[in-house]
Amino acid sequence: MPQGTLFIVSAPSGAGKTSLVRELIESLDGIQVSVSHTTRPRREGEVDGVNYHFVDVAAFEEMIARGDFFEHARVFDNYYGTSRRAVEDLLAAGQDVILEIDWQGARQVREQLPEAVSIFILPPSRQELERRLSGRGTDEHAVIASRMREAVAEMSHHDEYDYLVINDDFTTALRELQSLVIARRLTRERMRERHAPLLAALLSGEPGVE
Ligand code: 5GP
Repeated sequence: MPQGTLFIVSAPSGAGKTSLVRELIESLDGIQVSVSHTTRPRREGEVDGVNYHFVDVAAFEEMIARGDFFEHARVFDNYYGTSRRAVEDLLAAGQDVILEIDWQGARQVREQLPEAVSIFILPPSRQELERRLSGRGTDEHAVIASRMREAVAEMSHHDEYDYLVINDDFTTALRELQSLVIARRLTRERMRERHAPLLAALLSGEPGVE
């Protein structure tokens, strides 16, 4: 069974990463998002096992000690991590896998799997990012300013990624993400794995017409 490709997708909050990734996996077959573990409290509407595996700090630290994580990081005072087993099983089953993780996790993944494809999603402008981070306009100035600082810190790592996608028009950004996944599936290496019988037949010693 050919191995799938691992895609890393990072972005500051407010760039629209989660909606884009959701649409991406709905629009293509053979690609899944890895469900991370986190110690942060569940937000309204989030489902355990779907958005995240919600665990307490003790359980998370036990998983670190057991070496269960492919990568893990502390982001905004909470732990987040990707289960090694879950990702390896999906890749081995030939599925492409998306990790929606921050820049610290992306670094750890690149070290272990240099062929992983990394994509950074950017907002179209500073004003638009600020608007998206302002929530419904009810948040205090200091809260928004702190979210902006976190966003700028995350964006300062964009130069560590293979691809940059700007989410101005959602449909365009989605098409760009789809193109990256499809292009990767068409590399000679992946095609030769997937179409070995075809290539063997095409190159068999049957005499040609010329
Ligand atoms: P949120 O709490 O808003 O869902 O996510 C906060 C940040 O944590 C985002 O930048 C997100 O990409 C990152 N994150 C989510 N899951 C993981 C993970 O498994 N590993 C790492 N390193 N970061 C993660």
